[in-house]
Amino acid sequence: MSIVMKPTATKEDVQVVIKLIKSAGLKADVSSGQFQTVIGIIGDENKISFDQIKALSGVYDVNRIQVPYRLISRSYIPHDVVVKVRDVSIGGENEPVMIAGPCSIESYEQMFRIAKKVKEAGAHILRGGAYKPRTSLHSFQGLGLDGLKHLHNVGKDLDIPTVSEVRSEFDVEMVAKYCDMLQIGARNMYNQDLIEQAAKQGKPILFKRGFSAQIDEYLSFAERIVASGNRKLLLCERGIMPLGGSFKSQTRFTLDLNAIPVLRRETPFPVIADPSHGTGRKDLIIPMSRSSIAAGAHGLMVEVHDRPQEALSDANQALPPEDLGKVIRMSKLLFQTIKQSETPFTGDISNGSTHQS
Ligand code: PEP
Ligand code: MN
Repeated sequence: MSIVMKPTATKEDVQVVIKLIKSAGLKADVSSGQFQTVIGIIGDENKISFDQIKALSGVYDVNRIQVPYRLISRSYIPHDVVVKVRDVSIGGENEPVMIAGPCSIESYEQMFRIAKKVKEAGAHILRGGAYKPRTSLHSFQGLGLDGLKHLHNVGKDLDIPTVSEVRSEFDVEMVAKYCDMLQIGARNMYNQDLIEQAAKQGKPILFKRGFSAQIDEYLSFAERIVASGNRKLLLCERGIMPLGGSFKSQTRFTLDLNAIPVLRRETPFPVIADPSHGTGRKDLIIPMSRSSIAAGAHGLMVEVHDRPQEALSDANQALPPEDLGKVIRMSKLLFQTIKQSETPFTGDISNGSTHQS
């Protein structure tokens, strides 16, 4: 349920609504816009009377939101949300943002070398994993706290915001201390406690889709970030599992391009595409970056390594730094062309048609 207050509603009117919600044992999410306040309900809204709220002074309208992920739905927040990572604005009408860097932080020197190249190429945010979620116990597991410190120092020395993954609840405070944005990886998309604890740090969250997650499921877990009081949410499509156990795919995962416009239509939060994990192949990063921007992604996350032969993880999908500039220039060009075309990007749901077969 979303409760739309009248533009003339007073603070007291808003408090009366919140009190009523709380008295039913529910929580309220208050969204104050320039002209109007909208209040969302967290919990089982059947516990509260629709008519009783509608009758309160200051209430303009009460709507039932049909989707399960109500707090991040377009019906609750109709306009695009722009998320700021330090001074980088992501989403809405902003030009595509590039998050780039190696899969893993391997040393200060490695990070500095690559970060300098990605910054020169025009990247906005530096990535690097310190706590690596790995399928094999025998693969490189990341440098942990030392890695975070390298990332932090390089970010500071080159003046570029940073993002790194939180693999468990134990990492959350440290990653929040040393980085500007926290990443929750595909393998942790369902980890409710981790999501809530990461969100409570108040920093932007780059929330990746699980590789077998349906979009409704993905958005329901993403909603927990906003329900924890953190609206700095970035969604990230990073590829899903090819169908069927015996199906031999030439790619590591299948970047779900459909998900990009679907996420934009369903939610106002920025959508990032990760063609590196989505394909697992460096030769596919340029074409899939192109496709992602054309599909409406607000930005890309690309793994870059200048010495892939030395990389401790994901060497096959590392883009050479020389190619990053090409991806960034192409993204801007495509973005401008589509913006000026007859079919610009839109998250507008009012004229959306649903396919019926
Ligand atoms: C990563 O970004 O390094 C990573 C491990 O991604 P994912 O969670 O999408 O596999
Ligand atoms: Mn990786």
